[in-house]
Amino acid sequence: MQNMSGWRSLNVGVIGGGIGGMSVAVALRRAGHTVTIYEKSDFAGEVGASVSCAANGTRWLHEWNVDIAKGDPVVLKKLINRDWKTGEPVSVYDLDDYEKRWGYVYNMFHRQYMHTMLQDAALGEGEGTPATLKVNHRCRDIDLKTSTIVFENGEVVCHDLIIGADGIGSAVRKVLGITPEKRPSDQSCLHTNVTTEEAVRLGLADYSKDSALEYWGGQEGKWDKIVLSPCNGGKLLSYYCFFPREKGDYSTQTWGAEDRPVEELLDPYPELDRQVYGHLQIGKEIKPWRLWVHEPYPYIRRGNTCLLGDAAHPMMPHQSQGACMAIEDAAALGILFSKRYFAGDIDQALAVYEEVRLPRVTRVQAAAAKAAYNINERIGFSANKDIPTYKVEDANKVLTIEEMNAYDMYKDIEEKLASKQGTTYTGAFLCGLPIGLELPNGITIGA
Ligand SMILES: Cc1cc2nc3c(=O)[nH]c(=O)nc-3n(C[C@H](O)[C@H](O)[C@H](O)COP(=O)(O)OP(=O)(O)OC[C@H]3O[C@@H](n4cnc5c(N)ncnc54)[C@H](O)[C@@H]3O)c2cc1C
Repeated sequence: MQNMSGWRSLNVGVIGGGIGGMSVAVALRRAGHTVTIYEKSDFAGEVGASVSCAANGTRWLHEWNVDIAKGDPVVLKKLINRDWKTGEPVSVYDLDDYEKRWGYVYNMFHRQYMHTMLQDAALGEGEGTPATLKVNHRCRDIDLKTSTIVFENGEVVCHDLIIGADGIGSAVRKVLGITPEKRPSDQSCLHTNVTTEEAVRLGLADYSKDSALEYWGGQEGKWDKIVLSPCNGGKLLSYYCFFPREKGDYSTQTWGAEDRPVEELLDPYPELDRQVYGHLQIGKEIKPWRLWVHEPYPYIRRGNTCLLGDAAHPMMPHQSQGACMAIEDAAALGILFSKRYFAGDIDQALAVYEEVRLPRVTRVQAAAAKAAYNINERIGFSANKDIPTYKVEDANKVLTIEEMNAYDMYKDIEEKLASKQGTTYTGAFLCGLPIGLELPNGITIGA
């Protein structure tokens, strides 16, 4: 698969400078390309909340030499599901051997720290030419035939390759002719931040000691769920509070909206465990998080333009994989346009990108929608079959930690490239998973 012959350095335009946009800039500059990121905002309105980065995301941060310490992460030791009323653990997934099994840790970052960490890796010193960031550049249109981008500020630029990393409301997606089939979720979400310092000062539980993603409720058929994710080394507790939409509809609001009063946050939860309720009572920056369910898109590229991250596959937050999937997209493009794999045919590279990414993200997207009302479908808990409340829609179809972390993207790309190039792939992998791997859901890869 060695292919140096037709390789050439591309002039790449990335639209959107979020987690996905910064990640792809890192991957492509390292692969030898010149990258310009166009961001509509100036990042002034960034929200304070956690983002989880499991091993399948963390592995690429290492591969790209990203300074992970800058993200001030919490390295997770457990996933804990607690009883709604008593707070007693009902299902615990231990991550003690996680790094040993998968080679990388499960990080929880603060969004702004993670963003800065990736931005520094994209724009700073390091392998390849540092990317350029142009803020206040909102993409208005793209001519797909000439790969020309028109911005609302009047600027017009041309690139060899254009990547739409412009989030769930993507303008690039519209240019590609994709009309999302979408509906507001039956679930609403308010997010709030609590500092460990204040909670401890008031005599409340010190959840930071658990270094865990903690969930109250979420058992089958219930929309009510509290998700606690620690970040900033445990100093900040980021709470995602879910409840049925009929108890409060925020489907048309976005981040950046006014803070909501604490009563509104507490209202849906009269019976919630008093310890975590006490935390919510001191919650700051209470903001709605709009939840929309998007059906998978039929394609994610046209001409020399492709989509990445939430623009390509927005998903419900219940597998905590949105950021990881954006990072994986970036990794796929980094590999496909590397000196080893890119023979100069952009169309072929993007065709393989689509073939590699769409099935995997679609699977995670569907699993995230299911885990919204059944925590037993969540990666990790999906393997805890022995707990009394374990019930899943189809045991053979649950998403497992093995699929996420044993996945070898290089092998998946080699398999798909071989078929495009008319050669035979002889590796012992199927769609990036080792043939013979037994998944806890009873499926054996390649059987
Ligand atoms: C509050 C919150 C918490 C989350 N928690 C988690 C989590 O725990 N784990 C996880 O894996 N995922 C989480 N996610 C999801 C995750 O953050 C996203 O899936 C991930 O950030 C995808 O990044 P993205 O770059 O594709 O999109 P975004 O982060 O939305 O970035 C898109 C960027 O494009 C810019 N843009 C938009 N339109 C244009 C335009 N026309 N022209 C130029 N620029 C434009 C935007 O300003 C933005 O900077 C969370 C998301 C939110 C909002």
